[in-house]
Amino acid sequence: MKKQEIIERFISYITIDTESDPNSDTTPSSEKQWDLARKLHQELIDMGMSDVTIDENAYIMATLPSNVEHETPTIGFISHFDSTPDFTGKDVKPQIIEKYDGGDIPLKGSDLVLSPEYFDDLKQYKGQTIITTDGTTLLAADDKAGITEIMTAMKHMLDNPEIKHGAIKVGFTPDEEIGRGAHKFDVEKFGADWAYTMDGSQIGELEYENFNAAGAVVTFYGKIVHPGYAKGKMINSMYVAQEFIDSLPRMETPEHTEEYQGFFHLHNMKGAVEKSELQYIIRDHNKKHFEARKEVMQNLVNTLNEQYDREAVSIEIKDQYFNMREKVEPVMHIVDVAEQAMKDLGITPLIKPIRGGTDGSQLSYMGLPCPNIFAGGHNFHGPYEYVPVESMIKATEVIVRIAELVAEKK
Ligand SMILES: [Zn+2]
Repeated sequence: MKKQEIIERFISYITIDTESDPNSDTTPSSEKQWDLARKLHQELIDMGMSDVTIDENAYIMATLPSNVEHETPTIGFISHFDSTPDFTGKDVKPQIIEKYDGGDIPLKGSDLVLSPEYFDDLKQYKGQTIITTDGTTLLAADDKAGITEIMTAMKHMLDNPEIKHGAIKVGFTPDEEIGRGAHKFDVEKFGADWAYTMDGSQIGELEYENFNAAGAVVTFYGKIVHPGYAKGKMINSMYVAQEFIDSLPRMETPEHTEEYQGFFHLHNMKGAVEKSELQYIIRDHNKKHFEARKEVMQNLVNTLNEQYDREAVSIEIKDQYFNMREKVEPVMHIVDVAEQAMKDLGITPLIKPIRGGTDGSQLSYMGLPCPNIFAGGHNFHGPYEYVPVESMIKATEVIVRIAELVAEKK
């Protein structure tokens, strides 16, 4: 895999601003995502992919036809071309550090320093080529690294027909960062038996478990009376809200949990005497525990209403996404083949549960089982984002190796 080709391709993508916009209802949520979408569409055509399409919502699909006689499963590789609205992706000016010496990397457009003292993952990339930001933007390796790897892998297989593979589908989506990447993904048109999102972080990551997720809005209704004459009459909704907060387990919060531990996360509150509101997210890998968490909240609301003998509290709970494990476990060979591909390439697979969600979790429930594979970047969504080029090369090789392994199995 040619290193220079990967670097150039990656830079040509990250220098196009594709920040998505959570306040927009359109798809893509920002007009500028079309700039990269059109470029990718044209590149897929130019490199010789088949059935290259882009729909009215900027979803891009393409096919690399099978080059073997026998029947094989059709597999897909997916990434997203938007970047997060958490930090600007306009005018990305990447720094390329060759033969990284293991020390501090000044981000030269700012006072920031990317230091292994703080970001100790950096240490494992000593001697490699690292691409960083200049400190004024994010890098958008999330997920333009994934797009670079898929593009390069397809080009590599087209240029080297002696590599045997079945039909491979490619999908590029808008708006993943605002949770909508899978929403308008046409699974039937895509036509793959299963797929992988190339959207993980460090080299070796392979993920097929994520949170079950819901959001809850709890509203508290008080009674406002002149404070000088309020005895026995006023109900301060903020105190009721406080009771609610205190009744949930204090240690089951993001800052006290890890690995398979779920949580309630209070992420917003606003209050006045008359009315207060708490916004929570609920997360748990285990479906039963997830349901139990929602019940705990509902029961708490009922209890408070009984206690105050009026409708003092109401709650609205909405499911957001579910753990893909339920959909992947019955077809575990799709994880096994990815694991095998990594081992064949000398990469140590890091299989661990995601403490979040991916487009793949939604796609898995839409009928396309879809584990997540590393794309190589670190420190997503901010100016410290970086990616080692060697990890992008390895991810590209993983794509090719999976394609080979799937075609070998008859
Ligand atoms: Zn991503």
